[in-house]
Amino acid sequence: MNSIQYIKGVGKERARILQKLGIKTLKDAFYYLPKRYEDRRFLRPIAQLRYGKTETVKARIVSVELIEKKSLKILEMTLSDGTGVLRAKWFNQPYLKKVFQQAEELILSGIVKRNSFWGIGFEMENPDYEFIEEGDEFIHTSRIVPVYGLTKGITQRQMRRIMFSVVSDHADSIEDFMPEEILKEFDLPPLRETLSNVHFPSESLDPDSLNDFKTIYQRRLAFDEIFLFQTGLSIIRKNNSFTRGIAFKGEGRLLQRLKESLPFTLTAAQEKVLKEIISDMKAPYQMNRLIQGDVGCGKTIVALMAMLLAVEDGYQAALMAPTEILAEQHYINIHRLVENLGLKIALLSRGVDERPLELIERGEIHIVVGTHALLEEDVRFNKLGLVIIDEQHRFGVMQRSALRAKGEKPDVLVMTATPIPRTLALTLYGDLDYSIIDELPPGRSPVITKVMNQSQKAELYRLIREEIRKGRQVYVVYPVIEGSEELNLRSAIQGKEAFEKLFPEFRVGLLHGRLKPSEKEDIMAAFKAQKIDILVSTTVIEVGIDVPNATVMVIVHAERFGLSQLHQLRGRVGRGSDQSYCILLAYEPLSEEARQRLHAMVRYSDGFSIAEQDLIIRGPGEFFGTRQSGMPDLKIANILRDAGLIPLAREAASSLIKRDPELKRYPLLKSSVEEFWQDKIELFVTG
Ligand code: ADP
Ligand code: MG
Repeated sequence: MNSIQYIKGVGKERARILQKLGIKTLKDAFYYLPKRYEDRRFLRPIAQLRYGKTETVKARIVSVELIEKKSLKILEMTLSDGTGVLRAKWFNQPYLKKVFQQAEELILSGIVKRNSFWGIGFEMENPDYEFIEEGDEFIHTSRIVPVYGLTKGITQRQMRRIMFSVVSDHADSIEDFMPEEILKEFDLPPLRETLSNVHFPSESLDPDSLNDFKTIYQRRLAFDEIFLFQTGLSIIRKNNSFTRGIAFKGEGRLLQRLKESLPFTLTAAQEKVLKEIISDMKAPYQMNRLIQGDVGCGKTIVALMAMLLAVEDGYQAALMAPTEILAEQHYINIHRLVENLGLKIALLSRGVDERPLELIERGEIHIVVGTHALLEEDVRFNKLGLVIIDEQHRFGVMQRSALRAKGEKPDVLVMTATPIPRTLALTLYGDLDYSIIDELPPGRSPVITKVMNQSQKAELYRLIREEIRKGRQVYVVYPVIEGSEELNLRSAIQGKEAFEKLFPEFRVGLLHGRLKPSEKEDIMAAFKAQKIDILVSTTVIEVGIDVPNATVMVIVHAERFGLSQLHQLRGRVGRGSDQSYCILLAYEPLSEEARQRLHAMVRYSDGFSIAEQDLIIRGPGEFFGTRQSGMPDLKIANILRDAGLIPLAREAASSLIKRDPELKRYPLLKSSVEEFWQDKIELFVTG
């Protein structure tokens, strides 16, 4: 019934073609938005065309000629509208000759150039064209017309005609799911009017605003999508906060002992966040909290303290990281601290053969650190009370709940070392409560960052030599362990040899992911104990490593690294009171994006700005692409363009859910939310 097949002018054959564009139902068609608009209200006479502008003309064909020049086939057409002459050219599409021979009049749209032969007059290269047909001309001319993305087997006119039927015959059947009061509050137009106007805009709309997606109708559609997203998140949050959970009762004895054993005191920001966590853990509800904070702000130690609170009460805690390296780093960082307190900790990852599953199941291991390996079926806990997930944006909602399911309503803490702009955090992590460590431990000085190329190596070596002579240490990071011919990349293994030759007087170490955890730990310990001056490494040192005496970070092939990775690596230096340096050694050819990334590194030092730049450079799709499934996609709204709508939609959604958690008074909205979230997550708890 709602199938697109039954729309006027479609039928079985075309339905198949439309399906390729993702249009299966009437609703799909309504939400298949034009990719752009053309202003055909007043077609410009040829005589008045403007060079360099995209213009649309309606004209008679005077001549069509196929010219062959070597391998090039140029179809040349001359057109006239009585005011002037326009030449149009299409390259290597000889079949167009036949197509055009049957026509008398065309609508052409393209960028106006000077006639290449005469140097005056007008010309368009590869313009869009449409034939003029009797009968439905009012759909295609004398108005602002939509231009749709097409696929093989359907023309722009056919598509527009179908969309015209969709809108004119079926817009009346659209029911608005948005609560009246929200439309009023945000001054949004009704859905019917909205969908009619985005396809066939009324006279009064401005074509430029339409093309910039800035009309009230487009704003309404973007708002809708963000609102459905946020409503889902609000429901999840509400369900979570209603979920009874463990009320931890410990006094924090272990935590206190750890605090006393540390060589530093927590920063005010750490204390504040720790307090928020403890109060969540003591409440009889399940905690779902995100800790956000820049590299090196000290999230791990706060997380560890939360784990100790759980352990003190006889529970186990699990810490999950997205990669083996990260998991190992966490393990290395905390295992001594934990064992000094008389507790047992285990590492579960693919790189570790020994899996003390029985000890975990019997509850004899207190803290388990690992990768996805933690999610495997044979990993069973005795009494899992706290789940900590690091680098959240690489895990999906599903994986988070899979780990949670290993316990009896354990508390959940999520950490991210990749700070993202706050409005985005509200979208991405909108189902979590939110804590932020917005302060670095004292005594950190800003790192001097420089981009260098091959010809500046002498300067680089001088810096390295000076720093080591002062007693400082150096990291040199390579993108790969071993070189290969075709990659043409400098590798860590080659790098180590080269540095040994260059600096025979210094001690050079090598660290990479193929070493066993114990070997890595030995090398890190040697570096920490200043038995190594130059540590050549791969990105294994990206996170978690902390040697305040290291003052130089050299990143070889910096052009190959992503921004957040570069930022993480730079975060390894600048941890002591001495001036530190980050040298980005870049090799040509540099892509434009690589250039922008390096520039951003020099210009910005804090993680929030870096993340914002990352988002701008890569665009929202890529930026969020690393996230595994779990959240619905935004198809219409654009997180950058529509950022201003996010807090509004979030506020509207959460106050609505507060008033009516199950949307009992809004059945249409409820089914829209469910449809938007599909089976991503169970939104409405039944029974
Ligand atoms: P993050 O995980 O947030 O990037 P870490 O937890 O690895 O940061 O902490 C970075 C380093 O700072 C670690 O060596 C940690 O021991 C140290 N550190 C943490 N908190 C403090 C503090 N309050 N004062 C001094 N050093 C701290
Ligand atoms: Mg960390």
